[in-house]
Amino acid sequence: LVYRLKKYFPVRGFIRVSGWVKAVDDVSFIIPRGKTIGLVGESGSGKTTIGRLILRLIEPTSGYVFFDGRNVFELRGKELKAFRKKAQMIFQDPYSSLNPRMTVYDIIMEALKVHRVEVGDPYAYIVKLLEEVGLNETHVYRYPHEFSGGQRQRIAIARALAVNPEFMVLDEPTSALDVSVQAQILNLLKELQAKRKLTYLFISHDLGVVRYMSDYIAVMYLGKIVELGPAEEVFEKPLHPYTKMLLASIPIPDPAKARAKKPIRIVGEPPSPINPPPGCRFHTRCPYASERCRREEPPLVEAERGHWVACWLYR
Ligand code: SF4
Repeated sequence: LVYRLKKYFPVRGFIRVSGWVKAVDDVSFIIPRGKTIGLVGESGSGKTTIGRLILRLIEPTSGYVFFDGRNVFELRGKELKAFRKKAQMIFQDPYSSLNPRMTVYDIIMEALKVHRVEVGDPYAYIVKLLEEVGLNETHVYRYPHEFSGGQRQRIAIARALAVNPEFMVLDEPTSALDVSVQAQILNLLKELQAKRKLTYLFISHDLGVVRYMSDYIAVMYLGKIVELGPAEEVFEKPLHPYTKMLLASIPIPDPAKARAKKPIRIVGEPPSPINPPPGCRFHTRCPYASERCRREEPPLVEAERGHWVACWLYR
């Protein structure tokens, strides 16, 4: 459970703080166990900051993240170590997330040592892990540069799995890979989720990928969640003008459907996240913006059962 989470970064001027980047601004959502929530939005919308906050890689300005009934920002010592073992992260770039001077064996052994995981026979354990992610025994003593991008991401996944996590933040895990390899890694992540009952926070700007992976979708804009609901419903019946714009930017293969759907085009660039606009943050790009939108910030409300939206059109 993520509740009222905020992260503001100070912008330093010559003498004093000249503004705040409201990277995450009052965000709440729940990730049910064993499910995937997809976090989508343009770059700079705060997706990665949320992932890092949940794993407590950075401290929040305010708010809570509850995991197994405990606020992770209050964990100390042994409890914090136990949490770090249960919650792992897969990064976008498998090229930089693996130490080039270590073999696959050393990379996984290091994770086991850091988290003090006892395994009877480390070699057999590592071979089994590699097989689980689609590699094999011949890869154990190789270095990262000897692998393709997809294989490196498999090694990163094996390293995360080595400590038996329950929850994983997947931060654009396939966006550095070719399309055909992307599909293989996504399928692997799905298989592992089903087999190990993993819970995922899946961060991506690629809506097609998010739809494929997610049970629920949270759409972010300038540090806020503007729409949240079951994945199919958000894709089939988007409510927020921003979600509609994002979906309209995905090419539709069937020309008849493409004609039937009148897309709203994304116009302009998102405003600066430093001191974002008052009222609805999307009003500078929204074709439906009214005077109220420029003045008052719309709350996230349940417009339909389980489907939430922050827009004055739904009040
Ligand atoms: Fe557009 Fe107003 Fe809705 Fe914001 S609140 S998305 S500006 S209609």
